[in-house]
This record gives sequence, C-alpha cells and structure tokens, in this order.
Amino acid sequence: MKNLAILGSTGSIGVSTLAVVGAYPDRFQVATLAAGGNVDALFEQCLKWHPKMVSVATEADAESLRKRLKENGLGEIEVGFGTAGSVAVAIHPAVNFVVSAIVGVAGLEATYEAVCAGKGIGLANKECLVAAGDLITEEAARRGVALLPIDSEHNAVHQCLRGGRMQEVEKIWLTASGGPFRNTPASEFAGITVERALNHPTWKMGRRITIDSATLMNKGFEVIEACRLFHLPPAQVDVIIHPQSTIHSLVEYNDGSILAQISVTDMRLPILYALTFPDRIGSDLRFDLKQLQRLDFQNPDLGKFPCLRLAYEAVEAGGAKTIALNSADEIAVAAFLEGQIGFLDIPRVVECVLEVTSTLRPASIAEVVAYDAEAREEARRQVANICTRAVASR
Ligand code: MG
Repeated sequence: MKNLAILGSTGSIGVSTLAVVGAYPDRFQVATLAAGGNVDALFEQCLKWHPKMVSVATEADAESLRKRLKENGLGEIEVGFGTAGSVAVAIHPAVNFVVSAIVGVAGLEATYEAVCAGKGIGLANKECLVAAGDLITEEAARRGVALLPIDSEHNAVHQCLRGGRMQEVEKIWLTASGGPFRNTPASEFAGITVERALNHPTWKMGRRITIDSATLMNKGFEVIEACRLFHLPPAQVDVIIHPQSTIHSLVEYNDGSILAQISVTDMRLPILYALTFPDRIGSDLRFDLKQLQRLDFQNPDLGKFPCLRLAYEAVEAGGAKTIALNSADEIAVAAFLEGQIGFLDIPRVVECVLEVTSTLRPASIAEVVAYDAEAREEARRQVANICTRAVASR
C-alpha cells in the first residue's frame, strides 16, 4: 500500500493524483494533503479522503479550516500552515510516498525534507529541480531515494531510458506543443493579451504554467529539469516543436535508434507510472493509434521565444542563475497576468535579473531561498521600471 502525501492537492496535478488514488483504492491511500489558499476545496478533500494531516498557506486559513473540520466531526485531522506545515505533511510518519506538485519554490523545502526523510518522490514541481536541482538529486542519490518525474516529458524520457544504458544516450529530445503562438508572426507578439496567452491548445493547466508554455519558458525549465534529473549537459538535451503533442518525448541512442513514448494527453498516466514504478499496472487510459493522422516536427524559433534561449544560458552558466530564472519569471508572469507589463516584457525582466545574478552555487536550501528572494526583489524593480516608463510615454 502506498500512503501518499500530496503537496498541492487542490491544483490540477493534485486533483489528477486523487483521481488515480480513487481508481485504485487497494493500492493507494491518502495520508496527508497540503494546499495553498483554496481552503474550500481542501475542506471537501478532507470530507472525502479523511487525511491524517493537512496544511494551508496561512495561520488564519488554518484556524478557520480547523473550526469547520471540528463542526463536521473531523476534529482529529491535524491542520498546519506555511512552510512548516507543508514540511510536516511531507515527512509525516504515515507517509511513504510524496507527490510534489506545489507550484513555485513554496514546495521546495517540503520536497527536500521528504528526500532527506527517505520518502519516495513523484516530482511534478519543476522549481525543485530548476532552483535546487543539484542539492535534491545529490541528497536523493545519497539516500537511495528514487525521484520519479511526473512532468509528462520527463516521464516519457524516464520510460524511454529503460531501453538502453545512460552511457549509450546520445541525446534527449523534449517535445513542445509550441503553445498558442507557434504560428503567430513576431510582429504581433507585443500585442498579445492575457486572454489569448491563457488559451493553450493541448493541455488544461494552471495560469502560470499556461503562460510559461506560451513563452516556451516552461520548455526551458524542462531542459534544466532534464539536465539535472538525467545528469546530462545542456548540449545533450534538445527541444523539438511537435504541435500534436502525441509523442511526449524521445531518447536518441548512439546506434541511431530513437525511442519515443506515446500515450493519451492525460496527466493521470505519468502519475500512475510514478506511483507504480518499477511495475506497470492496467489502466483504461488508452491511446487509439488508428486515430493518429500525422506527426509534425520543427525547430523552435529562439528569436520569437527568447525565454528558451535564456534557460539554456542560465543552465550553462550554472550557480544561482537557474534560481533567478525561475523567480524572475514567476514575478514577470504575475505582472503580465495583472496587466502591468506586456507579453514581451516577460523575457526582458528575466534577462535583466539574470545579468545581475551570481554564478555561485548555493550550498543549502536556505541559500536557494535567499537567492530566490533576491531575484524576486530585482524582478519587482524591473517590473516597476517598465510601468514607470509606460506611464511616462503616455
Ligand atoms: Mg511538461
């Protein structure tokens, strides 16, 4: 029996994970849950799954949730909050497997502590590997903890890597749908609205990751994630635009063989794979090969999508650069969603922040958090500069 902690239980990965748990009640059980500000959804999950402990973002939310649980006869569910709360959820003694799906660096400490506590990890939080990749993978190797990727591309790579040895790998190909602006001329990019950017062709996801998919920053994060997870230099991790998103990624071997993974575009599949590895178990997530019409591939346009270039530069330079890449992007995307800056300002903000970021490698999670805070502050300054300039030019 796998007893799960789900970090980010009310987000899209969290909800899909609970759907998998519900489909295999004899294999998986909910032990603990951590959410952010969506207390109503977490309350409903408590009613349904009876976890031993839950955690929310703030003390005030924890207080009100505690009261509601008590009124509904669930007063025995422990309620924590903040980073300490999500760490307690992750390392709870009843937990033997952690699904890490809190978006942003908020999930970083909880995931790291879970690795240190020897829990199995299903990793859907990109920031863990982007911001603190070496720290987490080194600790996992030391403790013999398996880090199983839930991100669809890395999950596909993980599957394809079972077809050969690491030293035989020539290259990893990460596929990208290309987002909603694959065919949009560069001249229209300045006028891209929030509504258009939120309209992703293939996947239904959270708001930040949808924007990150539209700028290809998400693919840039995935390049970094792949370098760290599979211990490969950036030169061996390539991105290929594949609009149908049928192939989730590929591995090219030294003899010229290329292995690809195909399945339905449904996150329940990579979640199920991570939860059952090294086994595979039956599912109803079938892909109908006869419906497959065509597979197209093209090179990404780094001129139109500078975020992807910035990600390669950050991982090449190393140190705190990948932390800053993520933090600056988070601030810039939030500012774009609030209508403060334009679509093209997102890479501008990130590039300015990267320029002033150290190439020193963080030695601890505390240092990662400090670099993160520094980069956020710099990104806010850059956003403010852009807003000031926009007002002045009116
Ligand atoms: Mg992905």
